[in-house]
Amino acid sequence: VVLRLILLGSPGSGKGTQARMLQEGYQIVHVSTGDILRRAIQAQTELGRLAQSYMDDGNLVPDDVMLRLVKETLDAPRYEAGYVLDGFPRTVPQSTAFESMLLQWGAALTAVISLEVNREVLIHRLSGRRVCPECATTYHIDQLDPSGELRCTRDGALLVQRKDDDAQAVAIRFDAFERETLPLKQFYRDRGLLREIDGSRATGEVFKDIQRILA
Ligand SMILES: [Zn+2]
Repeated sequence: VVLRLILLGSPGSGKGTQARMLQEGYQIVHVSTGDILRRAIQAQTELGRLAQSYMDDGNLVPDDVMLRLVKETLDAPRYEAGYVLDGFPRTVPQSTAFESMLLQWGAALTAVISLEVNREVLIHRLSGRRVCPECATTYHIDQLDPSGELRCTRDGALLVQRKDDDAQAVAIRFDAFERETLPLKQFYRDRGLLREIDGSRATGEVFKDIQRILA
């Protein structure tokens, strides 16, 4: 069975981790929009240069360019065994166009998995995150001794908080994500493809749910 999946989840939902586990557990390719763009830009393809020109001007890559990039990417033999898409589609027009693309290929989506994370849990998870500026190890303040200075256990460097991890910034990102994703979820719910999973739990528990869906 060829698995063709779309993974939805807000920043901090653990989407990247689940995508990696899917890649390893099912031998399918994790395709993120960022990777597609980076590869095309590096290879200096016509589409890559076009995408770069939008990004250089500080704009989002428009739907039609993104679609052509996805088409070019997924057409390669390494994706025949299946894939998990991360960051695409982002909009209903992209989903509609992707649906016709799959139809042309005679391929079908297996499922759209949405990792649902409670707003408060997410804010706690992300706003408690601290990073070592020396070795990039990530910690959560819950794991650290609150009585002293927060230092990296590997090299002793003082830990810092990323700007976009402060509670207010996290809340804004989460709300924007929810707003943008709502129509997308409805689109796939209407097609009977949407599977919502509680992403607030431990990584292994979440993955077990995904395995059940794919069984
Ligand atoms: Zn460190």
